[in-house]
Amino acid sequence: MSDSGIFLVILSVVNLAIVLGIGLFVYESVREQEPRAPKVGGALFGFHIVLGLLILFWPGARLPIAWFLGIVLAIQGLFLIPWTRGARSLNGAAGYLATDGSDFVKMDERDIMFARNRSILPGTPQYEQYYKIHPEHKDYDERRRARGGPLGKPGVIDSCYRPNVAMLVSSFELPNLLGKASRVDPGASAARSTYGTKEANKAQLDPDKATKIVKAWAKHLGADLVGICRTDRRWAYSHRGEIHYGEWEEWGKEIPDPLPYSVVIATEMTHDMVMTAPHTPSVIESGYNYAKGAYITTILAHWFGAMGYRAVAEHNRHYDLLMVPLAIDAGLGELGRQGYLIADKFGPRVRVFAVQTDMPLVPDKPIDLGAEKFCESCKKCAESCPSKSIPLERQRKVDRGIERWKLNEETCFEYWGKVGTDCCVCMAVCPFSRPYRTIHKLVRYILRRSELARIVFPYIDNFLYGKRWRPRKEPQWLEYPRGTKSENFHGSEGLS
Ligand code: SF4
Ligand code: SF4
Repeated sequence: MSDSGIFLVILSVVNLAIVLGIGLFVYESVREQEPRAPKVGGALFGFHIVLGLLILFWPGARLPIAWFLGIVLAIQGLFLIPWTRGARSLNGAAGYLATDGSDFVKMDERDIMFARNRSILPGTPQYEQYYKIHPEHKDYDERRRARGGPLGKPGVIDSCYRPNVAMLVSSFELPNLLGKASRVDPGASAARSTYGTKEANKAQLDPDKATKIVKAWAKHLGADLVGICRTDRRWAYSHRGEIHYGEWEEWGKEIPDPLPYSVVIATEMTHDMVMTAPHTPSVIESGYNYAKGAYITTILAHWFGAMGYRAVAEHNRHYDLLMVPLAIDAGLGELGRQGYLIADKFGPRVRVFAVQTDMPLVPDKPIDLGAEKFCESCKKCAESCPSKSIPLERQRKVDRGIERWKLNEETCFEYWGKVGTDCCVCMAVCPFSRPYRTIHKLVRYILRRSELARIVFPYIDNFLYGKRWRPRKEPQWLEYPRGTKSENFHGSEGLS
């Protein structure tokens, strides 16, 4: 073959590879119901088809096109150069503490919005005690109570469509049923079981072997990510504030020191459900994942018990610990601008749970996904937040001794109360939430290795996908009547 023939083939093959890559991008974008990306992808696709025709039929255009493609590929190649500055997450959650960490103040569970709403009831001694110390919360909390539970009128954005609201209610029933069984004493469940050994002695397992078993068992039970960390007592609540089962003598008591190890798990929330945010399918998915987390952590905690160790299941009917710092320590992800965990593979589209135990295990190392740097320029969640609760500034601020972007929880929960769901818009709009496959997998791979990609990709993402949130169509089986007040549902008991 002549030199010009070889040149023609190479040029055509390179352009064809680009066309196929763009074709895949368009296909994935249509599948994900992206409103803008297929149009942008389609235009790029058409442009490269024209280039392909010019390469084939206009020899004079080949050299300039070769230069153009060469420059494009060289720029893309820059993103493959492995170089990162190393994120704060590599030091675990302690990496987010301001200065030397001496200003850090532990979180008091009594101050959590849910605990204030559910466990501080007018006319009780707790009510008097709490608002004497925190009069600044009183008016806001009174307004919320007047509106009903944490979600106000559940599902009101979708006319309280009864099948959907009932899915949410039924999902939360599982953590309600399991919460009482969160604390596990050695041998307790084995003693109750026909199959257990009656002794509470500790099974002797090499920590490596125990870690392998625990991780595989958690995955088998349904966890999508599992990590292990030493439990840092700074991430435990200071005082008990949530009372789910009438144990009022516990309210305001100091939370006991945690057990030395934590198995942290994350469950993936289904992409199609989350993308309907702030409509009911997204909150159904939250409820379902809370049920899944309660199920997995309860079995895991009782497994430790049957092995002769202590354990505490951490799910939404029993928290001694804050899940996000624990997950960062266990190598599951980083802290994002909207305050959620940006998890490996799934971004913020996860729910996080844990089991504390005294069985010796091998901790994982924290990871650097490039999320924090990406967040500095991205701001998509802040721009799309319907209540403007997420800071837009590039710089983080210090709050409780932690340097971060601090969500305005009061305005966020106000919005939950308006729509009757847990909103989820900031989760849905986040580029890290896209499905973990093909192009998105490649982007995450590059972000883990390239500082340059962390700086430039947010702008490319905005160009390809746009900035503003638009809810996607719900799966057919979750369709709700539009514009009518169908059967109202008043049972908000137990929703969170
Ligand atoms: S939407 Fe953007 S700014 Fe917000 S958490 Fe995700 S990556 Fe960060
Ligand atoms: S849940 Fe909704 S209202 Fe709250 S911060 Fe996220 S986007 Fe804003």
